[in-house]
Amino acid sequence: MTPPQTVVLRRGDAGPAVAAVCERLVLSGDLPGGVGTTDTDGHPVFDERVEQAVKSFQQRRGLIVDGIVGRSTYAVLDGARWALGDRVLRYVPEHFVEGDDVVALQGRLAELGFTPGKVDGLHGPATDAALRAFQAAVGLTPDGTAGPETMRAFAGLRRSVSGGSANALREREHLRRSGYSLSGRTIVLDAGHGGSDGGAEGRNGLVEARLALDLARRIEGRLSAHGVSVVFTRTEATEGGSDEERAAFANSCDADLVLSLHTDHSESGSAHGVATYFYGHPDNAKHSDWSVIGESFADLLLREVVARTGLTDCRSHARTWPLLRRTRMPAVRLDLGYLSHAGDAEALSHGHTLDHVAEAVVVALQRVYLGEADTARTGVLRLDDLRRHLEAMRAAQVESVSSDRTVG
Ligand SMILES: [Zn+2]
Repeated sequence: MTPPQTVVLRRGDAGPAVAAVCERLVLSGDLPGGVGTTDTDGHPVFDERVEQAVKSFQQRRGLIVDGIVGRSTYAVLDGARWALGDRVLRYVPEHFVEGDDVVALQGRLAELGFTPGKVDGLHGPATDAALRAFQAAVGLTPDGTAGPETMRAFAGLRRSVSGGSANALREREHLRRSGYSLSGRTIVLDAGHGGSDGGAEGRNGLVEARLALDLARRIEGRLSAHGVSVVFTRTEATEGGSDEERAAFANSCDADLVLSLHTDHSESGSAHGVATYFYGHPDNAKHSDWSVIGESFADLLLREVVARTGLTDCRSHARTWPLLRRTRMPAVRLDLGYLSHAGDAEALSHGHTLDHVAEAVVVALQRVYLGEADTARTGVLRLDDLRRHLEAMRAAQVESVSSDRTVG
């Protein structure tokens, strides 16, 4: 089926091009098989039946439903027949290759932690870059050509998929199935240090271990109000143990998420600000291990904390620390300011700052479970707004079983 650059097929047309279109429509399930109208040469005629099939195809694929096979309908129709591996895929500037196999390729790359951009079935520059990064990561020539070698690499990974990619899939699937509500979840709050280990000591008599536990309590109160079961890795009386032990404990609780609470300290006294950490290798191009939900929560939490407290944004970072790596559920560590910094220590010595942080935790958690439908601006979303937003969302879900509805 050679791409017709100018040809537009519509009702009344006949010939080999119409025959090819009919073939695709039968394959896509839009046109029932069997003999339709033919012309004197025996070629199928673009009759009402074909027109209906074109419309149904256009409808399903989100194209303009006009029953006419123009350039865009043709391209999508042509792309629909390709399964990943059927043809060699590569980036062609000016004329992006399009098809269901490109969708599959983008999906595989995304699963494995490479970022092909939007999964839109168009083989553009972002998909090209992700494909090359993948090839380099598995030791192939990064030529951007998804041929048999690359397909074998994908197949091999599918069998022995390990760490982050399987992890990412499981996380997403878990999130999808568990729905939008916080209620019924189990969150492990890990107040850093404890027992004989007080952690950092700073200005205003602040001690990291005590501060972390104080914050954990404030978070617990709010989460419990939302129906969340909160489990602590330690209390005043108990030691939390090593990060490995804390991770094992979280795994034994079968928690949905772990939040570890720390503060920072620096000799110079000038360092300040808040940072979050999630599981991932800092050099993602070479590793597919990555916690997608962890990253999402780390980003949201950071933004919410910064917006509410005015502490400096020191960004979120991928790390392979034991607590992040050994937990089976998404885990995020919050480093809330530097106790060695005058401004940070001042802010953290006030209970209301910790209350703002606790609220940020709940809102960020809720936003993780809202997923991509959540478009509210950071820092302005109050818990009450959030509840209303969720109720509206649930009502919309009940109305329509279809899950592809977007919420503004
Ligand atoms: Zn610490």
